[in-house]
Amino acid sequence: MEFVIPAPPIPSLPVEGTSARFPVARIFCVGRNYAEHAREMGHDPNREPPFFFMKPNTAILDGRDFPYPAQTKDVHHEMELVVAIGKGGANIPEAQALAHVYGYAAGLDMTRRDLQSEAKKAGRPWDTGKAFDHSAPCAAIVPAARIGHPARGAVVLEVNGEVKQKGDLAELIWKIPEMIAYLSTLFELKAGDLIFTGTPAGVGPVRKGDVLKGSVAGVGTIALRIV
Ligand code: MN
Repeated sequence: MEFVIPAPPIPSLPVEGTSARFPVARIFCVGRNYAEHAREMGHDPNREPPFFFMKPNTAILDGRDFPYPAQTKDVHHEMELVVAIGKGGANIPEAQALAHVYGYAAGLDMTRRDLQSEAKKAGRPWDTGKAFDHSAPCAAIVPAARIGHPARGAVVLEVNGEVKQKGDLAELIWKIPEMIAYLSTLFELKAGDLIFTGTPAGVGPVRKGDVLKGSVAGVGTIALRIV
């Protein structure tokens, strides 16, 4: 095919155990999926339908340096389990949802909290707060064929060696199969889609020079320096 301008590259992530990469299509993010985090953000954690927002696939950051973004004074870390969809589908039944998963990774939903808060107050979309360049750091994807499908395991983030966020996948309000089933009623999922599954309590600001180390037990780790 011939294009009138150079076609943009396909954003992608490394995959553990192979030199082949995972092409990233869309990035869905689940809001308020741990009760303690819903409370710290001033919400009632009672189980309401999950809600989603998106980041463009160009927001993927595959590297160890996170450039502090423009137009903000309050960038927060949100440590999350990331689900990588390997097989698409619409109206996927919960019982079959995990068969659509290629693998998992440790990721960060970086957030310009000040811009997100202004948007919330004004009833505006969250894009400037959530969907900015480099806002989706993600480690290598680990195939489910190797580690299975994690349903429990600590989710931890340290900033400069101090534990700031701590939760467990067992505390997810909406479990992975439920999220996939529900999301697939709203969008036809595509191979290459990522789902950031929500963050445990303890979100907070980062500063230039900070070193972030995150882990999802049974899945992997991510390390970043704020530059
Ligand atoms: Mn998040």
